[in-house]
Amino acid sequence: MTDVTNGEYDAFLEALAAGEGYYRVCENGHGLLPPRRACPHCGDRNLTERDLPSAGEIVTHTTVSVPTPQFEDDAPYVTAVVDFGGVRLTGVVRGIDQTAVEIGDRVTATVESNETDGERTIVFRPAE
Ligand SMILES: [Zn+2]
Repeated sequence: MTDVTNGEYDAFLEALAAGEGYYRVCENGHGLLPPRRACPHCGDRNLTERDLPSAGEIVTHTTVSVPTPQFEDDAPYVTAVVDFGGVRLTGVVRGIDQTAVEIGDRVTATVESNETDGERTIVFRPAE
């Protein structure tokens, strides 16, 4: 069971799209992203909201050539996990040649439509 509601996730995507991404941190210092109502690590519900740093670093990346149906027209594409200093976010990398994506690349997070059905998705683009 997860207590991330769609409404909460949508609100997070809207804030991220507006350049006002945020995350939550519990009293034990666990960073929560996407934001949740309770810490999945310790169950703490006393969460503080913080601004998401404008850029993070790619920690892992994968090229997807056989996607799920929702991303059929997007393939091949690169997904990455990006560390924003204690919190991590997963999304699709754009604006970097797929063979050139490297661990340690600095990227910013934003929200764009996917090619397949126009659904909003988290996208990483190279940081300035
Ligand atoms: Zn916690």
